[in-house]
Order: sequence, then structure tokens, then C-alpha cells
Amino acid sequence: MKVVVCVKQVPDTKGGVKFNPDGTLDRAAMLTIMNPDDKAGLEAALRLKDQYGAEVTVVTMGLPKAEEVLREAMAMGADKGILVTDRVLGGADTWATSQTLAGAIRNLDYDLIITGRQAIDGDTAQVGPQISEHLGIPVISYAQKIQIEGDSVVVERQYDDRYHVLKAKMPCLITALAELNEPRYMTPGGIFDAYKAEITTWGRADLKDVEDSNLGLKGSPTQIARASDKVRKGKGEKVALDPSESVEYIMNKLKEKHVI
Ligand SMILES: Cc1cc2nc3c(=O)[nH]c(=O)nc-3n(C[C@H](O)[C@H](O)[C@H](O)COP(=O)(O)OP(=O)(O)OC[C@H]3O[C@@H](n4cnc5c(N)ncnc54)[C@H](O)[C@@H]3O)c2cc1C
Repeated sequence: MKVVVCVKQVPDTKGGVKFNPDGTLDRAAMLTIMNPDDKAGLEAALRLKDQYGAEVTVVTMGLPKAEEVLREAMAMGADKGILVTDRVLGGADTWATSQTLAGAIRNLDYDLIITGRQAIDGDTAQVGPQISEHLGIPVISYAQKIQIEGDSVVVERQYDDRYHVLKAKMPCLITALAELNEPRYMTPGGIFDAYKAEITTWGRADLKDVEDSNLGLKGSPTQIARASDKVRKGKGEKVALDPSESVEYIMNKLKEKHVI
């Protein structure tokens, strides 16, 4: 069984977020971590490795520095790491990102692809389902439990107040939630091995069956027009009214702001 896990290096928001003058994230200047949903997806894959001897390949697209996240994944137990990096891939929106990752994955054998539900920086939750569309395979999102039954995968898909149990024939793509499990730590031996391990690096030329018009900033149907910090709320307003007038006052304010 072969499992491909898409792992994204994201800014650690505890260290602060920095923007370039054009509104894009200045990824090189920020502290980074492995995206939490992806870490749970990787842990799920490593459990399939423990149970069924699955081969786990981690793929990331990003700056050369994103190699760090692959080494971390390998120190946790992943078998292979693939870094997809190229200047022409920069500035990608979710469409171009998913096209790039699909183009890379087409070079690999896989039964299961696992992505996180969502990356904590872009926060769109679109990349996983888009990859499955490009590859023409089923997708099950919001996985809170994953089991294998013969040539199928059985997944609990989370909702606010319930879950569905879904079964899909492999190959299939699953998007994982951070709540799925408690990811393991890197082992000291794993860290040494991962430090020395060879990381495969692919560029534009290595992507299979992808048009240039679907890649990078030029191939992105959406462009960030403006980015800004959240506007902080003012001090608030004190009003002295009797109880029935206060209710009317508050209701009018809520209507004014289209809350109700
Ligand atoms: C209009 C627009 C313009 C953008 N321009 C830029 C830009 O100029 N520079 C820039 O740095 N970013 C840019 N971004 C952000 C970048 O496109 C997103 O980070 C990327 O598309 C992934 O989307 P997401 O973070 O919302 O991932 P989600 O869809 O929330 O991620 C879901 C899962 O997909 C997988 N995944 C997502 N991205 C990757 C990846 N790169 N490698 C491996 N796995 C991955 C992970 O498993 C992740 O958990 C832009 C985004 C938009 C919407």
C-alpha cells in the first residue's frame, strides 16, 4: 500500500505574520511549522505504515526552505520526501497550487492521498478536493477516523453534530482534521537519519500533464487585491437608558449592522 501525504510549511502565527509590499505573505521572514491538520494526516499515514507496512511519501510545494518540513516528516517515520520548488510556481492561488501538486503526484504510485483539511495560513480548505478533481479520484473530507477494508477505505466524516461513515474504493483522497489523532514525536535516531536523508527536488519540468497556463501567479484565476490587519474595535459606547428603551436601542443597533 502506498500513501502520499501533502504537507505544507506554514507560518507559526505565534511568531507574528509578515507581508510583502504587494500583500503576499513574506514566508521567508516568518517562523514556520508543519501545518497541524497535515501533521495529523501524516500520523494517520504512519499508523497505516505500522499496521500494513504502507510506504509513506510526503510532498510539499514551497520555497527551498520548505525542505525542513519534509525532514521533520521523515524524522517522524515517513519514507520519502519530495520538494516541489521553482520560481515559476510562486504566487500560486489554490487552483495553481492544486494543479502543481497533482502534476507532481501523477509521477507517483498511490492508493491513498492524504492532505490536511485546511492550512492555517491560506485557510481555504480547497487544495485537497481540487487535487482529487484533477486526478479524477474520489475525495472524503473532514476525516476523524480512517480504516482500511480490503481495497476500500472507510472514513468517519465529521459534521458539527454528527458524523457520516463513508466507504470509497482506493485510490482515493482524504482530508484530515487535527483532531484525528495525537501525532507522534520525532525520534532521536529518526532526526539523525532524516538529516542525512536524500530529498527529491522537482521543478516545473518534472510536473506531469500540467499546462503552464495553470501554474504560478500567471496561472492563478484569483489574485490578492489587498491585505490588511484586522481593524481593532473601538472603546465601545455607554448609554444610560431604562430597560425597555435599552432593548429597543440594542435591537436597532443590531439591525443597523445587519446582524439580525
Ligand atoms: C488569490 C490568492 C493569491 C495567493 N498568492 C500567494 C502568493 O503570492 N504567495 C504565497 O506564498 N501564497 C499565496 N497564496 C496562498 C497560497 O495560494 C495558498 O497557500 C495555497 O493555495 C494553499 O491554499 P491554502 O493555504 O488555503 O490551503 P488549504 O486548501 O487550506 O490546504 C489544504 C491542504 O492542502 C495541502 N496543501 C496546501 N498547500 C500545500 C503546499 N504548498 N504543499 C503541500 N501541501 C499543500 C495541505 O495538506 C493542506 O492541509 C495565495 C492565495 C490566494 C487565494
